[in-house]
Order: sequence, then structure tokens, then C-alpha cells
Amino acid sequence: MINRILSLLLVLLMCSCSFFEDRSERVAKEGVFEKSQNPLPKKEPTTPEVTEFYEPVPPTVNPTGQNGVPSDAIVLFDGANFNSWVHSKDSRPVEWLLNDDGSMTVKDKSGDINTKQKFGSVQLHIEWSSPKEVQRNGQNRGNSGVFLQGRYEVQVLDNNNNLTYVNGQVGSIYKQSVPLAKASVPSGEWNTYDIIYHAPEFDDKGEKTKSATITVLHNGVLIQDHFEIQGTTEYIGWPKNDAHGKASLRLQDHGDNSRVSYRNIWVRELNE
Ligand code: MG
Repeated sequence: MINRILSLLLVLLMCSCSFFEDRSERVAKEGVFEKSQNPLPKKEPTTPEVTEFYEPVPPTVNPTGQNGVPSDAIVLFDGANFNSWVHSKDSRPVEWLLNDDGSMTVKDKSGDINTKQKFGSVQLHIEWSSPKEVQRNGQNRGNSGVFLQGRYEVQVLDNNNNLTYVNGQVGSIYKQSVPLAKASVPSGEWNTYDIIYHAPEFDDKGEKTKSATITVLHNGVLIQDHFEIQGTTEYIGWPKNDAHGKASLRLQDHGDNSRVSYRNIWVRELNE
């Protein structure tokens, strides 16, 4: 029995050696690139190995780590407390309502809230709902917002049977980009936003050299496709482009008893 196992191991060792020998022989013959090259060499490869590389090895992420959150994500809100958040104006403790179901609700006129941690480019997951019992119309029905780096708003709005300007509707980059679709669930149910955000870049003189970009999935539906953000998302006036570095994520208290709730908020920092 032991002999059979040893024989099997020997065969496996020989196979793996011959694999590497074959590969290195072919590579020696044709050359190989360990990473993708730009521009590509003029010589057209004639074996598959030349266009296969093994480094860098990407990190392993458990997509359903603790509580279903990716293992390398930073949890910003899981329903337990407001430890990751402060009042956006003066860093006072958050006054929003902490609910028994693991969500939080905007406390009217108590102010926006900011993450304590500052971020650059991120993947953001956030869930929100507007009240089942609707009040008012247009921009005054279930209005809140997710501000990347405290400046660039992805609109949160109860748009169900509720007409408003399309560049301010749910899922818009406020007053800059109309969403590709309205993918809301019925009022009172939970929506998801999954956002890929790349921060803008500025030179030494404070001039913007690269616009921020944003991609948004609303309940799994693509609604913003790598949109180049023009600057701050102003209610009145043109977008502004003052230089900034890492900054807090901000959630909006629209100040009209919106009663919007949030839950399950996490980010993955994107290294550029
Ligand atoms: Mg808003």
C-alpha cells in the first residue's frame, strides 16, 4: 500500500516537473511576459504559455464573511450603534434613530451624518428605504442622499408615482447625470445601492487633473455607468472643483421629515 502511494506521488512529481520544464522551455524559446505589457511585443506568440502569467496573485476575499459582508470590507453600520459616524457639521454624536430591526432612520432636522473614517476610491454597499405611507410630492418625498467624499450625491428619493426633474430623480448623480433606469422597489421596501467610485485627482496647484467616476447598481440594475463627475452636486449653481483628499462618506437629512432609513453599510477601499 505504502509503495503504491509512493509511486503515485512520484508520478505526480514527474508530471509537475515536466509541466514546468515544458513551460520554461517554451518560454525560453519565445520569451514571456510575467505581467501584461503595453505596447505588446510585435512578435505574435505561437504558444499559449507566452500570454499566460502568474503574478501578481490577487488576494483572496471571502465574499460572505462575517454577517455576509466581504472579508476585507470595513463595516460602517450593522445596526448595533453609531460608532463609525458623527454629526457632519461639528462632529457631535449622531442624533438619528437607531431601530430594533438593525436599521437607522433620519431624525428630521438633526443634520447630515459623516463617517469618522475618510475614504478615497471605494466600493460601497448601502441599503435604504423610504416610508410605506407616502407624504408630499416631488423632491419632498423620501429625499436623502449618499454623498461620496462628502461632495458628490447619489440621489435617494421615493420616485414611485412621483414626478420630478429626471436629473434629480432616484439614482441620479444630482443635477449631473440622469440614471439609465428607475429600478426602485415599492415604497417601504429595502433598496440596495452598490457603487464603484474612483476619487478625482488634483495637481500641486489644486487644479483637477482627473475627474471622479462613478458606477451605480440599483437593486442589481446598472443605472450609472462609469459617469465622469463634473464636480460638487449643487442645488443651485455649477459644480465646484476645489482640491481635496480623502473625505468622509455623508448621508443626508433633507430636512423635510423624509423618514428615510439605512442599513447594512460597508465599503471596500480601492487602492489605485
Ligand atoms: Mg437628496
